[in-house]
Amino acid sequence: MRKKWKVFVRAVCYTARDMPAIWPLTVLTAALEAVMPYIQIFLSAAILSELTGASRDMQHLFFLAVLMTGLEFLGSALLQFCNQALDLQQYILMQHLDRAVAEKAWRMDYKLLCDPKIHGQKKTINNWQYEHGMVAMITQFRNLFRALVTIGISAALTIEFFAARAEGGGMARFLNHWSFPGVFLLLFALVTVYNIWSASGIQKGTYRVTKETEGSSNQRTELMKSCCAQYQQGKDVRIFHEQRILAQKFESLNDTIADLWEKAGASFRRLSVSSVLLSRLFHLFVYAAVGLKAVFRAFDVGNLLKYTGMVTQLGDGVTLLFHTIRDMVQNIRYLEDYFSYQETPNRTADAVLPVTQEIRDNYEFEFRHVTFTYPGAAAPSLSDVSCRFRKGEKIAVVGRNGSGKTTFIKLLCRLYDPQEGQILLNGTDIREYRYEEYLQLFSTVFQDYRIFAFTLGENVAAESEYDREKAVRALENAGFASRLRTLKDGLDTQLFKNFSEDGVELSGGESQKAAIARCLYKDAPHAVMDEPTAALDPVAEADIYQRMNRFIQGKGAVYISHRLSSCHFCSRILVFEGGRLEEQGTHEELLEKHGLYDRLWHAQAQYYRSA
Ligand code: ADP
Repeated sequence: MRKKWKVFVRAVCYTARDMPAIWPLTVLTAALEAVMPYIQIFLSAAILSELTGASRDMQHLFFLAVLMTGLEFLGSALLQFCNQALDLQQYILMQHLDRAVAEKAWRMDYKLLCDPKIHGQKKTINNWQYEHGMVAMITQFRNLFRALVTIGISAALTIEFFAARAEGGGMARFLNHWSFPGVFLLLFALVTVYNIWSASGIQKGTYRVTKETEGSSNQRTELMKSCCAQYQQGKDVRIFHEQRILAQKFESLNDTIADLWEKAGASFRRLSVSSVLLSRLFHLFVYAAVGLKAVFRAFDVGNLLKYTGMVTQLGDGVTLLFHTIRDMVQNIRYLEDYFSYQETPNRTADAVLPVTQEIRDNYEFEFRHVTFTYPGAAAPSLSDVSCRFRKGEKIAVVGRNGSGKTTFIKLLCRLYDPQEGQILLNGTDIREYRYEEYLQLFSTVFQDYRIFAFTLGENVAAESEYDREKAVRALENAGFASRLRTLKDGLDTQLFKNFSEDGVELSGGESQKAAIARCLYKDAPHAVMDEPTAALDPVAEADIYQRMNRFIQGKGAVYISHRLSSCHFCSRILVFEGGRLEEQGTHEELLEKHGLYDRLWHAQAQYYRSA
């Protein structure tokens, strides 16, 4: 329980730090909302008392009418201003939270990013950020303050009401007796306890169903995003008539979600109806009590209006209080989920060793008996891999599909850590180097590289402010020069049509060249390329390899390539098979061995000959 309240306190502190004006505004808005109805209740009661009283002072009446109009005008205007300001604050808070969730995803360890549990957690947060969590907490506190102020004023009026003495005997004596407020308080307590019980039942049920439907809701969002929201998927959907399977999947997910809510809905309805019914019966009792006291001349007609108004306000205040408490208790779990996601620890954050310029100038990597299994996978994707390579060496990594080549470079770039063995940089485990600095060693073109819907120049430089000459040079070296000349906006050409009608679509080969240009622009000491030319025709491929070769002169490089002919220029070739490093050596050495490389080489040579 204490832990839960701590989460609340943290959320309040977080929002207060992020948006300092949000809490004063919340309190002010709530106070205004609570007080406004009483201005009308008090002043119209006073006007009615004056009208029905003996003296009927017109000047006083006029004053009361002007005061009521003036206060109501001022209060409404101020309330509107506060409402709008608070809405804006909540909107900005939402933007900040959205950004914080995205930023966490950008910065978390890659291994965690790929973890289905964390992925699901992030999606769930994104899905309910608008209805629950910190933004909702502000609205709940506003309702809580409002309920408390309302109940406070109503409670003061209630005391005044009980203190007013009825005149006469019989019933009047009972109305003046202590047992009358006693019955009132008892009924009030009973209704309150029942309301709390039913509210907490609904709250627990809602959270349970939300959790039960979470997987299906996330799947539905994913389906919407990956199949319907991006036009790039439109081709396959049409050619393969995937509309049918999409519709079926949507329907099945919707049915699952609706069924679960439907089942829970019946018990929610029972609880809500019984709680409303009890509250109304209690109101009826209080109306009767106020009416009786007026009949026995405990107060005048004006006060009758005031005390019946009090009952409405007290009822509303109490109902609001319970609903708010229910929402707040429910929201704690969402806040916990948010903080738990945000605080998922990065293992890479512990490293403290700097990657010095000395290391960048003269480095050597060593894989020492490295074994790695992907999370959840049954068998290792790399087994007992040992090899060394240093600055200046160009290493080719070859092997059949699924032999572990990409996994090898993912480990080199520390996207994952091996379970057994070590990867060393100049003799020190790479886990000891500061992660950001370690990553600065690499320029990469991954097989599943992404070019973003930014401008061409921004994509190449991975920055908004960049060296334009260097970007053009990188594009030229990546074989993009002729395409660049056709773009009227040059580096400022917006890519893809996601954000702009004039966005330019790149072909597969052109995208790959842009990705190579990004790799060249970064100009890191070590290039890592996974099938960097798979989408290029053989002429373009030969041309790019030649240029890249010149460019990475003196640096280190690891290339994965299916086309063994393009490995010729590498100083060493690593041959993978079934996650093991089967052979390594120069092209000539490996051919002489008559092993796997020799077989692959001849198979490909045959293919090219027959082609
Ligand atoms: P290659 O690059 O040689 O084609 P990979 O290194 O991509 O091979 O994959 C090696 C093995 O690891 C394959 O069996 C593949 O299915 C598996 N694998 C790759 N990525 C993952 C992943 N994220 N989770 C589980 N298994 C994976």
